[in-house]
Amino acid sequence: MCDWELYYKKGKELNACENYEQARKLLEAALNGCPDEDSALISEIVFEIGRSFFGMGMKGVAISNMLEAVKLGLNEPHTENMMHCLVNEYGMPVQKEPELNDEAAFKAIHVMRYLYTKKSGRFGTLAEKDMIFELISDAWKDFSERVNLKGMTTIQKIGRYREYVIIFPTFSIPQELSGDTGNVIYADFGSDTCGCGSGLPYTWCCGRIKSIDELENGLK
Ligand SMILES: [Zn+2]
Repeated sequence: MCDWELYYKKGKELNACENYEQARKLLEAALNGCPDEDSALISEIVFEIGRSFFGMGMKGVAISNMLEAVKLGLNEPHTENMMHCLVNEYGMPVQKEPELNDEAAFKAIHVMRYLYTKKSGRFGTLAEKDMIFELISDAWKDFSERVNLKGMTTIQKIGRYREYVIIFPTFSIPQELSGDTGNVIYADFGSDTCGCGSGLPYTWCCGRIKSIDELENGLK
């Protein structure tokens, strides 16, 4: 057995006994060692790394790994059901209450927008983060009181979230605010499947909204 195979085996065991942090390290080492041509195994390792992140509470990062594994061709019978339990319509982690899914998407879009105005792409201090989160929470309150999302498709809802302008302190409004199209211009609105050919739904693929834990890890 090669080193990387050993790491994979051990990483899976550690995931199973909830030692996620250690598991992730071993699984990433396994991924580095695994030969590129073994795409089936690569997809399994990437999925397993997603499990580690999930266990560590970084659910957005977890889901991005898991969806990546599916794109790489992960083909296990339980995967699809599992993904539908974990991932909401926005390609984000499922929230405890259904109505919180919209709120989480709105907030993530505006956090992303704020972080894009910063060279570092990160919050500098906890106080800065608190202030921005508060501002975005107030914006959501205002938005949700005025806009009825019932009956809208996911893409329509995302459009409305993006239209909402929040003026953040200190920083000027980035240009993307005015004509922010993001990946949406590439969307095939006629079907649910992403235009990139991955076979995944658009909002689980190129149109997915990155969760705040992903944004904070600089995974833009
Ligand atoms: Zn895509």
